[in-house]
Amino acid sequence: MSAPADRPGHGAAFTGHMYTMSWTAGRGWHAPGLRRLANLSVHPGTLGLHYGQVIFEGLKAFRHPGGGMAMFRPRLNALRFQRSARRLAMPELPAADFLLALEEVVAADHAALSDDPEHSLYLRPLMYGSEANLMLRPSEEYEFLVLAFVAGGFFGDTVAPVSVFVSHDHSRALPGGTGDVKCAANYGPSFVAQRAAADAGCQQVVWLDSVEHRWVEEMGGMNLFFVRGTGSSAEVITSPLTGTLLPGVTRDSLLVLAARHGYRVTEERISVDQWRTECAAGLITETFACGTAAVVTPVGRVVDQGRSSWTVGDGTMGPVTAHLRTALTDVQRGRSADPDGWLH
Ligand code: PMP
Repeated sequence: MSAPADRPGHGAAFTGHMYTMSWTAGRGWHAPGLRRLANLSVHPGTLGLHYGQVIFEGLKAFRHPGGGMAMFRPRLNALRFQRSARRLAMPELPAADFLLALEEVVAADHAALSDDPEHSLYLRPLMYGSEANLMLRPSEEYEFLVLAFVAGGFFGDTVAPVSVFVSHDHSRALPGGTGDVKCAANYGPSFVAQRAAADAGCQQVVWLDSVEHRWVEEMGGMNLFFVRGTGSSAEVITSPLTGTLLPGVTRDSLLVLAARHGYRVTEERISVDQWRTECAAGLITETFACGTAAVVTPVGRVVDQGRSSWTVGDGTMGPVTAHLRTALTDVQRGRSADPDGWLH
């Protein structure tokens, strides 16, 4: 389904090109190239289709005031893609090849991006086991590709607080599992919980740890931050990387930016009960989700499945959330300095 150019939403307004490259055992990476976006022809016995040997990435390129394009921290995506590949017994793609593929797609398709300052070019690298073989073993052939689409807001065209649903029926990731990499198999099983969230009137699922079922880990495609206190003495908190949540590029960037803007920054596990009681006591004043797609999105309301529900702060975007959102998007869109060299 395609999307209107002025309201692209997220995920449907594909651009005209893709970059593809193949890997074969004994031969390695070969046949790189930019092509017109076209359907893939796959054998029905394609291993990745049956056994989930599929990994992907997501990052954005932004139009800068001078008209040029810049990607935000793509090297981190290249490294995460390599980690994902290792976890799924797939070949690692050299970071230089990953970056070159992204550059070629951006160069070919940047004109698809309008001047709307809220839009960006979302880049989707993907790799799947492409061998036509149904033995239960790693594929001996792989296809790597990069697609792009024009992205508006993940939650619509304006930044509005989202409501979230804490799932107690389902778990996202187990210790020793794949929660800290970006494989397709982490996402399909989450859709049933996402549907339960929608049935409860919420937009997103919040995942708890799957051992004690009490620690707030992350959301469907976003990491979560809490703000304790107010003003310049506010503390900005996110879960440590427990091994069962995705190390987000946005999460990492916000930890750096929050510290630079004078906030106390803490990686601390927050339980769902603590979230509720600290909100009621006025200690936790804000909560926000962050990710490539979500950027920084305030959480207004929490439904703790079958237990209770509460409002975070006054249910609107708080000042620390707004401050960090601006700080991040200003770097991404070239409106402020880039002291860390995050733009490519
Ligand atoms: N958690 C999950 C499960 C995700 O899919 C994503 C999106 N990649 C994130 C967090 C945020 O990561 P990033 O900031 O790198 O987009």
